[in-house]
Amino acid sequence: RSLNVRQKGSQHRIDTHIIRKDGSIIPVDIAVSVLTSSDGTITGSIGIIKDISERVKLQKLKDDFVDIVTHELRTPVSIAKEGVAQLIEGLHGPVTVDQKEMLELVSRAMLRLLRIVSDLLDVSKIESRKTVLNKESVDVAELIKEVMATFRARAEKKNLKLLFGSGKTIEAMVDREKMVQVLTNLIGNAIKFTERGSVSIAVEIKEPYVQFSVEDTGPGIAAEDLPKLFSKFEQFGKKDGHAEKGSGLGLVISQGIIELHGGRIFAESQLGKGTRFTFTVLKD
Ligand code: ADP
Repeated sequence: RSLNVRQKGSQHRIDTHIIRKDGSIIPVDIAVSVLTSSDGTITGSIGIIKDISERVKLQKLKDDFVDIVTHELRTPVSIAKEGVAQLIEGLHGPVTVDQKEMLELVSRAMLRLLRIVSDLLDVSKIESRKTVLNKESVDVAELIKEVMATFRARAEKKNLKLLFGSGKTIEAMVDREKMVQVLTNLIGNAIKFTERGSVSIAVEIKEPYVQFSVEDTGPGIAAEDLPKLFSKFEQFGKKDGHAEKGSGLGLVISQGIIELHGGRIFAESQLGKGTRFTFTVLKD
């Protein structure tokens, strides 16, 4: 009976503050479960109030740390990158082929560092719920085409077919820039990990959602790795030292953005066959 009651109950959580007798304010997490019996009558409720001051303090420390690190890293690295770019262009005198090669290596490494810093900042913002969406009506089919265009050359270089079925207009209320970020991450991964075959993208309306999928014929992801896909810094089956190595944060960011749009993301994969990422966002 108690199991039955629990299952039928509904749960609510709130982050708020309470005032102690001595007047001090402490942050708390209140979880309230309304219990309903199988015939629908409310039979009671359970509330748990948890003091989360330590968690809040830690979160603030972490946010400050990320803010400082990202800011302090971004500026000097950007300056260094500009300097190297000038050297490569020969603005400071002629460079030999060897030197140029080395400078280009440095330039790529710095670009990667900047990308990691920007990913870290994105994750931190999502985790501290500071990410805000600028929603507007967007034709997502058109958006997919725009993102695909940025990958055309890379796909051609690897002899991969880049496919997209729908030509219809599909309007959705989304944050354009953030949707580009998600699509770029998923399509980019698919192209990065796939050596032969194709990357196919699809989109369809599934009221109240719009559902997207990105499917590749790449190496696939082992069943035991699938649950870890959306965790920070996870990278699997990697040939190390690869220039295209990412931060392992892309999917975490994508998931955060999708959840802010009221949707979810999941992956299906078969080793040796390929992977399909599917995600939804609320249409309106
Ligand atoms: P990154 O690509 O920057 O390493 P992501 O969070 O985007 O980070 O991806 C995490 C890991 O998931 C990748 O390093 C890779 O091991 C695996 N992965 C993601 N997409 C695919 C895919 N399409 N095929 C195979 N493995 C993938």
